[in-house]
This record gives sequence, structure tokens and C-alpha cells, in this order.
Amino acid sequence: MNDTSIRLSSDDLLDILSLSENATAIYTGHDVIIQNANETMLQFWGKNKSIIGMPLEEAVPVLKGQPFIAMLQNVWRTGNTVEGIDAPAELEIDGVIRTSYFDFLYRAILNPDGTTRCILHTATDVTDRFLSQQRVAEMNKQVAAINKELSDANRQLTVSNLDLAESQETLMVLNNNLTESETQLQFAIDAANLGTWDLDPKTNKFSGNDRLKSWFGLKPEAEIELSKATGVILENDRIRVIAAIQQAMQYASGGNYDIEYTIINPENPIPRIVKAKGKALFNIDNEVIRFSGTLQDITEERHASEALAETNQRLEIALDAGNLGSYDLELETGAIVCTDQFKVTYGWPANKPFNLADKIRLIKPAYRKDVDKQMKNAIEHNTVYNAEYEITLPDGTERWISAAGKPRYNKEGKAIRMVGVTYDITESKTNERRKDDFISIASHELKTPITTLKSSLQLLDRMKDDPSPKMLPKLIEQANRSMGKISTLIEDLLNVSRMNEGQLHLSKSKFTISHMLNQCCNHVRVAGKHDLIFEGDTDLQVFADEHRVDQVVINLVNNAVKYAPNSRHIYLIVEKEGSMAKISVKDNGPGISPDKLPHLFNRYYRADYSGIQYSGLGLGLYISSEIVRKHGGKIGAVSELGKGSTFWFTLPL
Ligand code: ADP
Repeated sequence: MNDTSIRLSSDDLLDILSLSENATAIYTGHDVIIQNANETMLQFWGKNKSIIGMPLEEAVPVLKGQPFIAMLQNVWRTGNTVEGIDAPAELEIDGVIRTSYFDFLYRAILNPDGTTRCILHTATDVTDRFLSQQRVAEMNKQVAAINKELSDANRQLTVSNLDLAESQETLMVLNNNLTESETQLQFAIDAANLGTWDLDPKTNKFSGNDRLKSWFGLKPEAEIELSKATGVILENDRIRVIAAIQQAMQYASGGNYDIEYTIINPENPIPRIVKAKGKALFNIDNEVIRFSGTLQDITEERHASEALAETNQRLEIALDAGNLGSYDLELETGAIVCTDQFKVTYGWPANKPFNLADKIRLIKPAYRKDVDKQMKNAIEHNTVYNAEYEITLPDGTERWISAAGKPRYNKEGKAIRMVGVTYDITESKTNERRKDDFISIASHELKTPITTLKSSLQLLDRMKDDPSPKMLPKLIEQANRSMGKISTLIEDLLNVSRMNEGQLHLSKSKFTISHMLNQCCNHVRVAGKHDLIFEGDTDLQVFADEHRVDQVVINLVNNAVKYAPNSRHIYLIVEKEGSMAKISVKDNGPGISPDKLPHLFNRYYRADYSGIQYSGLGLGLYISSEIVRKHGGKIGAVSELGKGSTFWFTLPL
């Protein structure tokens, strides 16, 4: 400030200040003595000029407890100006305390020594501005909140919209699928000839498609009483079906229903066998809410499988009766699935698996190549494979096998299996061989007496003009003997063919066995090499063909003579056994080994058929057994090697 300038007194200054539009006051001292205050300030305080000269705290007691006095004291002390904006102050106007807001300035006017001379207080009531600002801020806040909510909602809406679009799309796809599935299901139901049903557990009424209703002989009403439907189920099945339905509708059962039964519809008396399948659905309280399913007509299938089972059974019986073993060979692995008889034929244990390699090992090496060739040929040309071969059983026994098989192919035309049968032909092969042997033996047997007869006749022819009385009877006897042998052989052969044709006729009469035995076999007695000793019941009589029984005894005695030449005594024994007469021929010859005994009475069978030691055709015992059988009797042999043989037969009394 310039010294030459006019100095205004402090009162002047105060007066000027009091003219200011702003509220103004001047304070001094630590006690904040009001030196002056203009009208506007006095109005803020709700006071008049009388308070000038008083400490502010005293003049305006409402300021007590508010920060202003302390702030002024601080300005006085420090000389630092303090400014406030939107500062709230509680003031009492007309006895009412109100909060108003002020922008204010406490400016320290300083002395040249830096101490505070006075404090200039200016203030503007900004309550309106402040409150409206507050309101605006509040409103802004609200707007922001609303905006936020809005944008949140918007975002959610977008998401929801997206979801909705997606859901709609999914729904459309599902709907399409559902329609497609429904169509497919309908096709499937139609194609499979299925009946469909749906039971409402609440009403116990059920609905079904037309097919199902026609099976049950029901009118096409919408819903039918369950009891009405179960009424057409075959009585034997009904209780079982009702129980199964009740069971399926229990939560614990899992809701599954699967049963077969027969319907007899009153309009169609032919029983229909059906297979019902269903599923019950339950709510969260485990109560059944729906029970539905399908019904399939399996009558034909069942009849077919029954027929198949029957055919299989028949086949099995036929296979068993024919001792045929059947097999199914898997070509790639060589595994064989077969019947027990198949294993029996190969002498294989029933509980041990059998495969192609095992089978080949049993086949005698000489046949293996041929069997393999036959099988390959059948596979190549899809023909039946047929082979006959010899095998050696695991226990060493030899057997003849006839095997047949047919290849089976897969879709690609590759042979995968061979299915067929095998048969033990040992017996027929043996018979075949015996027959061959028999023909050569028979020719040989016939040739010997014929040669003798021929030479006798030649000699007789040569001496017909000058017969030698010495030679003549010898030659005639020789020719007669040869003739006798030939006629015996031919008689045997004729007997066999007669038996084959069933022409063995019996002319029965009552005779005493001992008498017959005494008269038969005189040729043995005459020859004198053996003694025929009679033992037993001399009076026993039978009703039989005496000539044929005589033939049997001659056969047995001749065999004893032939096969037991050193047995001097040959016993003829007659016994009564119940209602039968038993006649035995016993010798003390070499006996017969046990393995040969069961075959003695077979046609062409010769225990020693080399034919060198003893001549014969293997027919004597066979013819004898046929004669005895025809009489209703039995024939047999008891023998032990080294202890002789007893041949016996029985005849009804
Ligand atoms: P063949 O005498 O022509 O051989 P058979 O049928 O009469 O025919 O006899 C069958 C076989 O029974 C004979 O080959 C013989 O080996 C045996 N056989 C029969 N009788 C006796 C016997 N008394 N002692 C020992 N072997 C016998």
C-alpha cells in the first residue's frame, strides 16, 4: 500500500464492508470478538447489531460445539487463511435451529510484524445450490442405479433372447425328431405287427391300438376295463399275468413287465400266443403314474420253434437209434462240437474236448491224405463229403468209420464249418471181409470133394470095359463120400438162404429127447473115435420139429468131433429147466477164448477161420441158433481155454 494514498479508518473499512452483498464480519482476538458484521451476516445468525463487541460464541450460542470458533481461533493464532465450501452450519433463526450450507473464507489481516490484526469473515449461503446439487447427485445416483439395473436387465434380456432362440431351435429339432421318431415307431410297430397298450393306474382302464383290440376281441372303444381284457387270457395263464402286472406296478420291482401268455378271443377260437413287454413309470413319491408297452404275436414263431424242437428231437432219436454221431467242425480253429455218440465212436472220453487234430491222429496214416482230399473237394464244390477209413482208438482197438459232412459257408462265400455224421461200420466191414473169406472157403470146401469125385469118376470111366473087382467098391465108396460132403455143404448153404428168406418151416411133433439122441450121430459111433455118453432125464419129452432138432445136435456133436479130436468122451446131457428142456453137448477139447465166445453164433463166424486146420463155412452154429430161435428156445456156449466146451440149447416142453 502506498503511504501517499488516503488512509481509510477501520470504521470506514467496516462500513464499506457492511455494504458488501456477501455476509461479512470482522473478528479480533483469541475470543473472536465481533468487531463488525453486516446485515446479511446478522441475518444468518438471526441477530441484530447489539451483538457487536461480543465474543462470537456468546453472541451466537448455537455455534457452540460446531467447529467454526476453533477454526477462527486457529486463524487468529497462525495467521493462515481458511476456506470452506458447502460447509454445513446449524443456526437458530426465529427460535428454530436449521442446517444451512455456506461457502466461507476466514482471511487473516496481518500487522507488519506478522501478527494477526483482525480476521475478515465472508460467507455466502449456498444452501439452495448445495441441496439442489445434492438432489442432482442423488438423482444421478438413482439414474445410475436405474441405468445399471437397466443394463443388467438388458444383458439378461440378450442372454435370455439368445437362450430363447436356442431353445426354440432345439425345440424345433426335438419336435422334428419326435415327429420322425413317432413315424418310425409307428412303422416299427406296424412292421413288427405289434399291439400297443397303455394302462391308466388311476382308473385301471387301458387303451390300445386297433390291432391289440382285435386280438382281444374288443370293440374300438377308447378305454377298456382291465378285468375285461384279462378275461380273454387263457385260464391257466390269467393269474400269472395279473400277478405280473401288479408286480410291475410296484416301485420296488423296477417297473419291468415281460411275460408270455395265450389269448383266446371269443370271436376267434384259435389260441394266439403273445409276448407282452412293458414298463411302469413312477412319480417322486414312488407311485405308479403310467404303465404301457407292447404285445407281440409269437404264435407262429412258437409253433415253428416247437416244430423245430420236435424235428430236432426226432433227429436225435434217429441219430441215437442208428448209433450215428453228429458233429459241427469249425474249419478255422478245428474245434468240434459233437454229440456223445460221436466221441463214443472214436473211443474218446465224453468229458474231454475233441478237435480236428485229435481226430486226424486217430485215423490210420494210410487214410489221412484221402480224408483230407475228400474234405477239400467237398468244400471246393459245395458237395457232400463221404469217406470210409480205419482208426486206432486211444486204447489200441481198431475200428472202421464211415463219415459224411456238408460244408457251410459265410456271406462272403468262405467255408467256415463242416457239419455231418459219423458211423461205426466195423461190423459191416468185418462181415464183408468174412463174406469174402466165406466165398473163398466155400469154393475151396466144395472143390476138394468135387476133385475127389471127379477122379473117382475118371477111374471108373477108364475101367468101364474091364472093371477091377478090387477097385470098384472103393471108388464107388469114395465117390459116395465126396457126394455126401458136397450135399452137406450145399444143404448148409440152402438152409442159410432159406433162413434169409424166412422159409424155415417147422413140422412139430411130440418126442422123447433121449430116444432122438440115441438114434442120431451113428456116424460118430461107427467111426469109433469118440464115445457119446448120455446123461440126465431119459423121459423128458418136447413138442418140436424132430428132424431140425436132430440137425442141431448133429452140428454140435460134429463140431465137438472136429474141434476136440482128442476128447474121447462127448457127453449128451438132458435136463429140465422150468418149462424148458435143456440139451447140452460137452467135450474136453481145447476150449474157446472168451473174446470169441459172443460171436460163435454169427453167420460166417469162425473162431479160427484160417481154414487150414479145420474145414468149415462158419454156418453150423448160425443155422443151429436159427432153428432153436424159431422154436422159442435159447442157445449158448460155456467154455474155458484148456477145459473144454459145452454147447447148450433149450426147447419149450
Ligand atoms: P464151422 O464149423 O464151419 O467153422 P460153426 O458155426 O459150426 O462153423 O462153428 C463156428 C466156430 O466155432 C468154429 O469155426 C470153431 O472155431 C468154433 N467151435 C465150434 N464148436 C467148437 C468146439 N466144440 N470146440 C472149439 N471150438 C468150437
